[in-house]
Amino acid sequence: MKLVFSDFDGTITYNDELTVHFHDILKLLKGHGVPLVICTGRSKSWAHFLLSHFFDLTHVISEGGGTLSSVTVDGLGRRHLSDRLLVPEEEADRLEKIAQELVQKFPLRLSVDSFGRHTDRAIELSDLNDNPSLDKEVRAFLKENEVNFSTSNVHLNFWCGEISKMKAINTFLSEYGPQELEETLFFGDSLNDQSVFRDHPKSVGVANIAKVLDVIEHRPAVILTGEENEGPLGVLNYLKSLLK
Ligand SMILES: [Mg+2]
Repeated sequence: MKLVFSDFDGTITYNDELTVHFHDILKLLKGHGVPLVICTGRSKSWAHFLLSHFFDLTHVISEGGGTLSSVTVDGLGRRHLSDRLLVPEEEADRLEKIAQELVQKFPLRLSVDSFGRHTDRAIELSDLNDNPSLDKEVRAFLKENEVNFSTSNVHLNFWCGEISKMKAINTFLSEYGPQELEETLFFGDSLNDQSVFRDHPKSVGVANIAKVLDVIEHRPAVILTGEENEGPLGVLNYLKSLLK
């Protein structure tokens, strides 16, 4: 195994909590010379946070695959952060217009972190779960306008153009290698990981994926079970079994 891709929320965090197990995962992978690339539905700003504070990370895919943020280190050891859109800029512009129309038309607000988003926007799932008819109307509005959407653990994310975690992973591999998908692993736990579950031969669902197993269309190749394999402990246990 040459590289590990992983979702963030619920996969290498417990609910919203970043625990010591996240550091254990980084340490284990570093010890074996295996890079970790986080693939999250969170905003590009989160990618910047992760790359600025966890020096073992050099690339983060964010916004569900819409952006790739990278760090390069110069000769003086200074870290330089750069971003790349994985969707045409015109699609990001169309999204901005749709997002404005959405909040004018419906009694809802965008998630606070939509401010840091470039290629997608989000609505708090809790706002929609409390109001099923609003949820239905919002989804119908997005469909009418040919806007794609998906749910993560916390958000209804929506975007214009072709964006998925799997597409971003393929772009990443074609440029940064390893070339073979089979030489990598992917960990995930939710609906917004499905593009990878469908196309990655070595995808792993941590045990808490049980909550969505009856609603997901594409299941990961391996599904972990048991409380001891929920979230980051599941990732850690699985990696330990491979990296003996
Ligand atoms: Mg997740």
